[in-house]
Amino acid sequence: MALYKEQVIKIYNSISGEKETFTPLVEGNVGMYVCGPTVYSNVHLGNCRTFISFDLVFRYLKHLGYKVRYVRNITDAGHLENDADSGEDRIAKKARLEQIEPMEVVQRYTVDFHNILNKFNNLPPSIEPTATGHIVEQIEIIKEIIDKGFAYVANGSVYFDVLKFNESHQYGKLSGRNLEDMIPNTRELQAQSDKKNPQDFALWKKAEPQHIMRWPSPWSDGFPGWHLECTAMSTKYLGEQFDIHGGGMDLKFPHHDCEIAQGKAVTGKNPVRYWMHANMLTLNGKKMAKSTGNNILPEEIFSGKNDILEKSFEPSVVRFFILQAHYRSILDFSNDALVASEKGFQRLMDAYHSLDQLPASERSDFDVKAWIQKAYDAMNDDFNSPILIAHLFEAVRQINAVKDSKAELTGADRDLLKKAMSDFMFDILGLTDQEEEHGDVGQKLEGTIELLIKLRAEARANKDFKTSDNIRDQLEAIGIALKDGKEGTTYSIL
Ligand SMILES: [Zn+2]
Repeated sequence: MALYKEQVIKIYNSISGEKETFTPLVEGNVGMYVCGPTVYSNVHLGNCRTFISFDLVFRYLKHLGYKVRYVRNITDAGHLENDADSGEDRIAKKARLEQIEPMEVVQRYTVDFHNILNKFNNLPPSIEPTATGHIVEQIEIIKEIIDKGFAYVANGSVYFDVLKFNESHQYGKLSGRNLEDMIPNTRELQAQSDKKNPQDFALWKKAEPQHIMRWPSPWSDGFPGWHLECTAMSTKYLGEQFDIHGGGMDLKFPHHDCEIAQGKAVTGKNPVRYWMHANMLTLNGKKMAKSTGNNILPEEIFSGKNDILEKSFEPSVVRFFILQAHYRSILDFSNDALVASEKGFQRLMDAYHSLDQLPASERSDFDVKAWIQKAYDAMNDDFNSPILIAHLFEAVRQINAVKDSKAELTGADRDLLKKAMSDFMFDILGLTDQEEEHGDVGQKLEGTIELLIKLRAEARANKDFKTSDNIRDQLEAIGIALKDGKEGTTYSIL
């Protein structure tokens, strides 16, 4: 029997403000959409937190036996500098400043994004569609919204008619705003807008002559509005209505409220059943911002090359740190917090690795089955990873008590605990077993040094002392000392 029949998940639905029992539209299947990055700069740590949070959701649903289709888009066009449909396209601007093709910008930062998420051990989504790959679908949706009377054409651009929509639907429900709150107060906009009302948002923008990213449409050569791509891609791959939509808290308005309006305008239905939003990450108690320097890139954490941390940290430790907070809480990143997480991470891994050496007793002092259900209960309660981690540390205390002969565990319970810990730590939380990973690297390093010793011996046999000395000296320079003895050459790592 699939685990999901035994484990009932409750999800905090951002639109109702309540924890609701999760029942997918089609039994055993889950459709999940998460707004991906706009690929015009290196992915920042706050975004990584969002993607790690939804990776946890994806992993847990899969663990329970659900067949999950996880769609996460790449925004490679249409995202303007200003949320109120003004300013330059972020990707086009970067391309102009660096004098490269927009698609070079897209490629560079898509690769960076994948590389970083890989290091964090995030699973790839099932489908990763791009905005530029779905221009046709976006144009079709605009036509439908116009046909339903919720959009109008003005001077080659198409705008969503928010006031008209609000007569029959509630616009801004997700973010809890009313129409007056939504008037953008940018002077530029009020001066030169084709909009009927300032709350309206662009579905299609006519491109200015200098705008380099443009496509033909029935209205003008232009580009789609940012909110539209997510409606087009979620509808295409998950249907008019689907189970879970996630994103960062900052996307609630206008982005997600606009997605709801677009979907409802076409089908009359709510496109999403459960809205989930991950909270933000602060750095030393303050909002992260490039402009103030209160900012750190994931790569700078892994390498230790930054002014904020006293040392480097493994991606898995950073992931563990992130999962020690619930995804809906604000999380503060600091050197001390990471140092504490690293210690906890090590204690957890050490206890897990010592399980095999525990003596098997006749009886158990620890109810492993009850512990397993408590761990599931934590995850069932809106993916509460910090509570799950607290239960893992309870298991660590029990393991250490058995090690110190202060408690007993049967062989069967020990094996059961090991399997369950492995499920929760690696399969669900997505932590990486450092011992295994480094063990593998160690083996490869050993093989590489053996190869260099062999090449050096060959050089010496050929009387090429320049090469043989070079190999020895360069190895020594990086801290590997060779020693020639009767049995051949051995090495030591300094
Ligand atoms: Zn989106």
